[in-house]
Amino acid sequence: MDYSIPFNKPFIVGKELYYIAQSVLSGKIAGDGIFTKKCHALMEEKFGAKKVLLTHSCTAALEMAAILCDVSVGDEVILPSFTFVSTANAFYLRGARLVFIDIRPDTLNMDETKLEEVITERTKIIVPVHYGGVACEMDVIMDIASRHGLYVVEDAAQGVNAKYNGKFLGTIGDIGTYSFHETKNFICGEGGAIVVNNEKFFERAEIIREKGTNRSKFFRGEVDKYTWVDMGSSFLPSDIIAAFLYAQLEKMEEINERRKKIFMFYHKALMSLVNDGEIRIPCASDGCQDNSHLFCIILKDEKTRNALMDYLKSQGILAVFHYIPLHLSPVGRSMGYVEGLLPITEAMSGRLLRLPFYYDLKRRQQIQVVEAITDFFRK
Ligand SMILES: *Cc1c(COP(=O)(O)O)cnc(C)c1O
Repeated sequence: MDYSIPFNKPFIVGKELYYIAQSVLSGKIAGDGIFTKKCHALMEEKFGAKKVLLTHSCTAALEMAAILCDVSVGDEVILPSFTFVSTANAFYLRGARLVFIDIRPDTLNMDETKLEEVITERTKIIVPVHYGGVACEMDVIMDIASRHGLYVVEDAAQGVNAKYNGKFLGTIGDIGTYSFHETKNFICGEGGAIVVNNEKFFERAEIIREKGTNRSKFFRGEVDKYTWVDMGSSFLPSDIIAAFLYAQLEKMEEINERRKKIFMFYHKALMSLVNDGEIRIPCASDGCQDNSHLFCIILKDEKTRNALMDYLKSQGILAVFHYIPLHLSPVGRSMGYVEGLLPITEAMSGRLLRLPFYYDLKRRQQIQVVEAITDFFRK
């Protein structure tokens, strides 16, 4: 079905097509060309990150993180069940045991108070996922990780350009990962980046990303031939993709401003339904500056959520739910997880609804969405 207001719509803001042409004309469209380097430099400078490397997705960046942390069979990785499948798969691929923990009802992020009780001798990594670009309680998580000698890999797929206590998400843990998928804030179709914060990973990150070779060193003239030195794969995107992305990164603040306006409009316009107790809006905690990645509401039960979703569809508006908890997926169940283990995750996932949210969403469409929701509750 064609919706008059879709859930998401890819957009261009500036020089995307011009830069693609420039990239093609530069004569080098493979990875690590001029626009890839520009993207790295822009993000390193803007986010105060030591090393940022583009990847072809956030999934790829998470896989690189798992290799960098030497995850092997039996190692335990703690992550929320309320997340995208790639957060889990990257570690599952390497034979890790996935330890899912519950989320907080206010931010829908990993409940940091549940961490210490699941840490064992085999625990290797904590993976906080910044849901909707809202920061996890990173001070607490980093403190627990350092006391137990664990790595922290931030899944900041949705958290590009958002902050926690003055620090950009993705730059706080040992490693951070970003997504530039067309559903995220800054896009290039499919794309991502790994933010390498722990210096011990600097050299190996370049090698793993370049098929296990020391090609990056070779190009910098640091070695006189390049060869196979470690395990690896091809994780780098074409420079054509980077060209598109660079145009978006240049307009990062403009994109953020626009998204913030949409977020604030929905928030204000739906406040009366919040006050009437019909819906709840998850919130960011103190010290967290989010990036208006999404706007979701929590309904009183799953039945109401589904009825509202259907009503909006009948009005040509596509609002969608989000994650089916990973611990209740076929793979999660095969690991022995059952219903009832993570009550907040299970409750929230059935009651959550995300409203249409994209750069080009017009004010008149935002009004239409709010009116349709209000009508639903009047009936
Ligand atoms: C989008 C997303 C990913 C995957 O990003 P890709 O770039 O599509 O691989 C991973 N984790 C979270 C939390 C996401 O939202």
